[in-house]
Amino acid sequence: MSNTYDVIVIGGGISGLSAAKLLSESGISVVVLEARDRVGGRTHTVRNKQVKYVDLGGAYVGPTQNRLLRMAKELGLETYKLNLHGRLIQYTKGKSYTFHGTFPPAYNPFVYLDYNNVMRTMDQWAKEIPAEAPWKALHAAEWDKMSMMEFINKTCWTRAGRRFANLFVNLFVTAETHQISTLWLLWYIKLCGGTTRAFSTDNGGQERKFVGGSGQISERIMERLQGRVMLESPVVKIDQSGQSVIVETLNHKTYEAKYVISAIPPILTTKIHFEPELPAIRNQLIQRLPMGSVIKCMVYYKEAFWRKMDICGCMMMEDDDTPIGLTLDDTKPDGTEPAIIGFILSRKATLMTNLTKEQRKRKICEYYAKVMGTDEALHPVHYEEKDWSKEQYSGGCYTAYFPPGIMTQYGSVIRKPVGKMYFAGTETATEWSGYMEGAIQAGERAAREIMFQVGLIKEDEIWKSEPESVDVPAIPITTTFWERNLPSAQGLIRFIGYSTFFGMAAAVGAFAYKKGFITQM
Ligand code: FAD
Repeated sequence: MSNTYDVIVIGGGISGLSAAKLLSESGISVVVLEARDRVGGRTHTVRNKQVKYVDLGGAYVGPTQNRLLRMAKELGLETYKLNLHGRLIQYTKGKSYTFHGTFPPAYNPFVYLDYNNVMRTMDQWAKEIPAEAPWKALHAAEWDKMSMMEFINKTCWTRAGRRFANLFVNLFVTAETHQISTLWLLWYIKLCGGTTRAFSTDNGGQERKFVGGSGQISERIMERLQGRVMLESPVVKIDQSGQSVIVETLNHKTYEAKYVISAIPPILTTKIHFEPELPAIRNQLIQRLPMGSVIKCMVYYKEAFWRKMDICGCMMMEDDDTPIGLTLDDTKPDGTEPAIIGFILSRKATLMTNLTKEQRKRKICEYYAKVMGTDEALHPVHYEEKDWSKEQYSGGCYTAYFPPGIMTQYGSVIRKPVGKMYFAGTETATEWSGYMEGAIQAGERAAREIMFQVGLIKEDEIWKSEPESVDVPAIPITTTFWERNLPSAQGLIRFIGYSTFFGMAAAVGAFAYKKGFITQM
């Protein structure tokens, strides 16, 4: 086979493969160069006797992720809803509290005001940010300078509120609050449709999983591309100095094309040599977008004992000594292979990476026993895990994050083409960036940028909105009167303070008037 194509796609994750699929369906010859010995990138479905199949990377899908739902349906995949029957558990300061709903209840009214206010403020501020150009938001400079830690400390008045907001950030983007820009996190929330859509199981981003695993999306696209995906082909050089683009892999193979799509996490492009050099701002941007840290852990049991206890399997663990931040029931839809999935997040992933797999398993089970209050959790029958920070062709997961100051200084070039090179990958998306949905949106958009260049479509057809999935329609997210109008904890304290002050001032005034210290004018 000749090594000359219209387009070379670098990276066989969902984004690169979505680009290649669309290009090839449009009659454009394409090859995908994938570094690993498998496709899927940050999604990875492992099959074995003990688990049947398990998603070690990206797995969940929900309403408003319409491209992912469309793609999966076209490829013949089905989804199933997660188990939501039973109570959730919040574990904080060494104690477990059970509850129903998305967010843990707060018995202290100031904590409730904090929970409500921090989520409401994030959603309100996020609305102001343009999805395509967050660096142009009215308050971009101010919010980009501010870390999420500063935002949380400013917004939350109680320690419980701060602990909860910290866990939310750790879980949402697998990074520490002091590491990330408020502008970036609010933009990321906006792209998911708000905090409730992002965080919820029912009617949210974690509503469903794919029967057979999410890895099938990439595997089935690869089948359709019929030999046009080259595995074990890490790209090390992109040469645009001539008429066409020459791409070289680590095993010294060269490929030639008219255009290239880079569909790998931005920071991994620092491993590639560019001829000519990248423009200064892009060269600097790619050094400044670290990946998050997460270890995904699945503990299998003989039976789903938590269901007997009216617990749905969702545990939110806030304490510093707990290895896991959040768990969910990962039992198969037919009730087989009972399992709890847990996420070791950010700083905890860095600490736990030094333990052995066996030590991690034991520590996790000990905590599950403590949090659920049953020794049954101490007796797993199988364990699977994946530490994404170790993966040299991911660099970490779920996604790249923007530290303070980077979005406004460098963000505008995130998907700006460089010569004949176009940029895909979930990090370049404007809907559900960081997710599989964003990967598809970005891949298809990059493919259409090239389709425009070759005259197949008009410029205004590059960006396409996606019709809502008929199978998984979204129920609008609504808020109650109280959620919209309750004061913040600080607001209430100020109000009480002012009322007390003015009340006392009025009393003193009345007393003074009565005693004749004040005369009428
Ligand atoms: P990638 O999947 O990273 O693909 C890039 C590809 O490029 C990889 O295959 C890589 O091997 C390859 N590559 C890298 N360097 C080179 C090179 N030099 N040459 C050639 N190839 C190269 N998303 C959701 O939607 N729902 C979830 O529930 C969810 N949970 C997640 C949980 C975990 C633990 C993880 C890890 C991710 C999760 N995600 C989730 C995120 C989701 O998996 C990613 O956003 C998405 O898969 C990214 O796709 P991509 O194609 O943009 O990038």
